[in-house]
Amino acid sequence: MASVDGYDAVIGLEVHVQLGTESKMFTDAPYYFGASPNELTNPVVMGMPGTLPVLNKRAIEKTIQVGLMLGCEIPQVSKWDRKHYYYPDMPKNYQISQYDQPLCLGGSVEIELDGPSRNVMGEHRRVSLTRIHLEEDVGKLTHVADGSLVDYNRAGAPLIEIVTEPDIFSPEEAFAFLTSLRNTLQNAGISDCDMEKGQMRCDANVSVKPVGTTKLGTKVELKNLNSISGVRNGLRYEIDRQIRELKAGATIVQQTRRWDAEAGVTSLMRTKEEAQDYRYFPDPDLMPVRISEDWKSQLAEGLPELPFDRQRRYMADYSLPYTVTSVLCSNRQLSVFFEEAIRQHNNPLAIANLITNDLLRELGAASSGSEVEDGERRSLDSLGVSAVGVADLVAMVDKGVLSNQMAKEVLSGMIATGQSAEAVAEAKGLRQSSDSGEIEAICRQAMEENPKAVQEFLAGNEKSINAIKGRVMKATQGKANPTLVDQVLRKLLASG
Ligand code: ADP
Ligand code: MG
Repeated sequence: MASVDGYDAVIGLEVHVQLGTESKMFTDAPYYFGASPNELTNPVVMGMPGTLPVLNKRAIEKTIQVGLMLGCEIPQVSKWDRKHYYYPDMPKNYQISQYDQPLCLGGSVEIELDGPSRNVMGEHRRVSLTRIHLEEDVGKLTHVADGSLVDYNRAGAPLIEIVTEPDIFSPEEAFAFLTSLRNTLQNAGISDCDMEKGQMRCDANVSVKPVGTTKLGTKVELKNLNSISGVRNGLRYEIDRQIRELKAGATIVQQTRRWDAEAGVTSLMRTKEEAQDYRYFPDPDLMPVRISEDWKSQLAEGLPELPFDRQRRYMADYSLPYTVTSVLCSNRQLSVFFEEAIRQHNNPLAIANLITNDLLRELGAASSGSEVEDGERRSLDSLGVSAVGVADLVAMVDKGVLSNQMAKEVLSGMIATGQSAEAVAEAKGLRQSSDSGEIEAICRQAMEENPKAVQEFLAGNEKSINAIKGRVMKATQGKANPTLVDQVLRKLLASG
């Protein structure tokens, strides 16, 4: 626990994630990001009298899959409740949600502390979850000078809420939690979790208490945390503010505060007295969901390996360094690409290095300067280089056809033209000479031109061979296979 000025922070997160399903939660209206305002609506979404909700089975399945990945208990029966409130983002004046019988109970998320920033495997622990429930998203309001605009495209989209126990103890742990959760959900195809698109949203509850005490302090809920680093920054500010207040003799009042990322401060939105009573009651239009063991095991079978498990496997099975595996496992597409490439050519380290250094550099150069931690990385596909293409390139290096330097040039050519490694190398005339007859002739000539270096080498000065090698490489314009040159030279020198 990171203590500040004699106080410890306690944090609990409420994370909303849109499930990437084709249609909405209770109707067949399509849902996707980027449609023009109010295009994705129908009478059910608009809450017209006489319409009835119909469950989206895929959304329920995805929620159960999240629960299975996070070790939640999946009760046999789960039901739907109406949460009432009056606000223009919700056309029916109630939101269909889950109150006391959610789809998932308990569970936990594995997090890694301090690792990525120190380039070594950090400490791992699990953050406990309270529950995960499924509900419908609401519309989006945009406040303009002379009023507010409302867009119901998002309304009715399937949304899960993941609630943690007060089991997070620093802003950095909150950052690690959200990073891990996002990787896990992206990896399983549950959601793209793009916070800029509102696909993942987080409210953070935070309190402080004197070091050594166990009773939790009064919590403050932070809203408008629009990125993972926003959550961390907002919490840092709020923890300092609460400690400052307590030190000045004030008490913390339970309240909701808004994070202003630009100003770097939180400000009061409302206090507990203004909290509303949602009058939850079971939705009479929807049957409870029954979840059989068969259904659960079927859903479990469709789940991929978890990112941290995959990382441990890469380190153990392929002896890959930690830093490389943390990049590869931060993104499903990268690990799928990597695994496809090593199936084609079995050199995991060289392939992993090529992906994490060269390919990602190309992607970074091509994408905007937005923070990689929060932003969507441009897709590897957009480079037009396939996993098999990368495997072929590394194979050419391993066969001695290309030097590492040439491989970089060939890769740039592959990206520029979309052609195979073979074709690019051919077109650019990049090929190490591995013709030993030809190399032997050039080596002989280099020795003749360099009698001094030959004598010195024979007298025991090992390094003198480099002068001769230099001539060979110059004569071949760098295209001779250095390993072969070394072999041939040593053979010639030994035979006098
Ligand atoms: P509410 O009744 O206000 O909804 P809950 O008990 O349901 O509060 O908790 C909501 C979130 O706040 C959870 O993530 C929980 O872990 C967190 N939380 C609850 N109490 C505290 C506290 N004293 N300090 C920090 N977080 C807390
Ligand atoms: Mg609550």
